[in-house]
Amino acid sequence: MLFLTFAEKMNKIEHIGIAVKNLDEAEALYSKLLNAKPYKREEVESEGVITSFFNCGPNKIELLHATHADSPIAKFIEKRGEGIHHIAFAVDDIESEIERLKGEGFQLIHEVAKAGADNKRIAFLHPKSSGGVLIELCADV
Ligand code: ZN
Repeated sequence: MLFLTFAEKMNKIEHIGIAVKNLDEAEALYSKLLNAKPYKREEVESEGVITSFFNCGPNKIELLHATHADSPIAKFIEKRGEGIHHIAFAVDDIESEIERLKGEGFQLIHEVAKAGADNKRIAFLHPKSSGGVLIELCADV
């Protein structure tokens, strides 16, 4: 039995990121699936991506569309096809969460939180250290 201290924790799944080839088609598909329209489209230039967000109860679906061939999303689709790209967890204090996870042996892609879509500060964990799942931390700005 492993005892951890829960001073810092993940609050909830904030969103699930889904890599798509065609944003218009994917928005139409998810609009039908969720019976809701996306509430925003936003480009994150540093990641080479256009995002489209849907609300789904307390969580969100984030569609991710590559803006150029070198985008991490384009590379992901090339390797693994369209589908679930990452799971994002909401945290209160992203700096201390980064420190906590580093202490637990997780490898960070971003050791310093950066600006993400939808007014969040974000950091990604390397999927190598998290069982093949790309994990995003996100905190309100
Ligand atoms: Zn995300």
